[in-house]
Amino acid sequence: MENHILNIIYLLASVLFVIGLKMLSHPETARKGNLWAAMGMFMAIVGTIVLHHHTSLEPIKIILIIGGIVIGTIIGAVAARKVKMTKMPEMVSLFNGMGGACAGLISLIEFSHLEEAPVPPTMKTIFTIISGLIIGSVSFSGSMIAFAKLNGTLSKSVRVPSYNLINNIWLLGIAAFAAFIVFSGTTDIKYVYLVFAMALIYGVMFVVPIGGADMPVVISLLNSFTGVAAAFGGFLYHNQVMLTGGILVGSAGTLLTIVMCKAMNRPLFNVIFGAFGESGTITGASGTMSGSIKDISISDLAVLMNYSKKVIIVPGYGLAVAQAQHVIHELENLLEERGVEVKYAIHPVAGRMPGHMNVLLAESNVDYSKLIEMEEINPEFPTTDVVLVVGANDVVNPAAHNDPTSPIYGMPILDVENAHHIIVNKRSMNAGYAGIENELFYNPKTSMLFGDAKVALTKLVAELKTM
Ligand code: NDP
Repeated sequence: MENHILNIIYLLASVLFVIGLKMLSHPETARKGNLWAAMGMFMAIVGTIVLHHHTSLEPIKIILIIGGIVIGTIIGAVAARKVKMTKMPEMVSLFNGMGGACAGLISLIEFSHLEEAPVPPTMKTIFTIISGLIIGSVSFSGSMIAFAKLNGTLSKSVRVPSYNLINNIWLLGIAAFAAFIVFSGTTDIKYVYLVFAMALIYGVMFVVPIGGADMPVVISLLNSFTGVAAAFGGFLYHNQVMLTGGILVGSAGTLLTIVMCKAMNRPLFNVIFGAFGESGTITGASGTMSGSIKDISISDLAVLMNYSKKVIIVPGYGLAVAQAQHVIHELENLLEERGVEVKYAIHPVAGRMPGHMNVLLAESNVDYSKLIEMEEINPEFPTTDVVLVVGANDVVNPAAHNDPTSPIYGMPILDVENAHHIIVNKRSMNAGYAGIENELFYNPKTSMLFGDAKVALTKLVAELKTM
């Protein structure tokens, strides 16, 4: 009976995961979606502790489980509340690494139980354990390196000569050892420790050469690894909710990786082996572009915007760095009060994580209906008086259309060039993520508003208020 109830709880929890995930796809429902999925996880955990038929646990184990849950909940809640939006990929990589470590440790412990099992383990059981161990361990150590790269502890990508070949040989070595363990049916734990160590080292070797700025894509990929590792745990324990959760994380991570690569027009291969933006030969400050740069004063810009009919704001990574989301909303309100139509143009990879701009602008309560996706907003630029680019660079770089030699060639961009006036706010002529110059800044229609976004926009708002 208890088992039936537990299965129903697992089914409900799985349904909540799916609904939650679906709701995450729109900013308006994302918060609730997160809560629904968390509720599913809560039900699954409590149901397992209370109803699982092996729960004849000694008190010390119950204390350990509850202690782990309490400590994990406190750390997770505090970290999630305190984390800055720009540090989100870091937190995700850390948490993802913990998931991978869990899957790896579960496999290690379950393998150590095989020796005492009354019947010899089947090949399927050993395969499931070893797969979870390898994938979880790679995900753990890879995520830790990604975390170190994102927080600046590891600043450069380290590339030994022929690292590709070495990595592939290492991976083959892991596969060979794993195949030996599975096919020989051995329950000797030292082989498994060896595979565990090799997988941990592979995670490091896999992520270390990848360009620091490509980490969000890599994290999404590692996230899918953790999901797959957890799904193997679900197979092992015949636990439906662990299986569904793992598969959902695995497929969502894979899809997100594909979507991010598509939006940047870069094959995954290029992300993993490309060292994007690290060549050092292309920088925005090198001044290799011809043409002149003109800047605009705050008062001239205030006049221009005040007398415009339609303004489109293009937010980018710099808006997040400057934490200028509140002041930009204030600017939007001020302009609308004066009858100016204001919209935001959202590029799918603006910022440094998927949905970065949506989350940022939602923080300052910008109306979701004003956030317009790239395909929809592009035809509107020719009828726009002023486009205000705030801390965005690559996502408005015309080289994506015009320069077949550019690393971003083919990436869909926001066609801001078509607007009547282009204002670009950034602190200097430095490049963005891709490390390349931007001919938009030299366009005769473009005027630069140099300075930190928050400082510049605050001045602009103050100026507008005097008009
Ligand atoms: P970019 O990184 O191209 O440019 C950001 C610009 O912001 C910089 O040129 C910088 O110039 C400026 N900036 C930085 N700080 C400030 C500040 N305080 N005030 C004003 N400006 C500032 O950003 P985009 O959003 O245009 O493009 C995102 C890039 O990230 C794309 O290349 C995308 O492929 C990549 N990417 C995105 C991911 C995602 O999921 N969203 C994941 C991985 C990569 P300056 O220093 O002169 O101020």
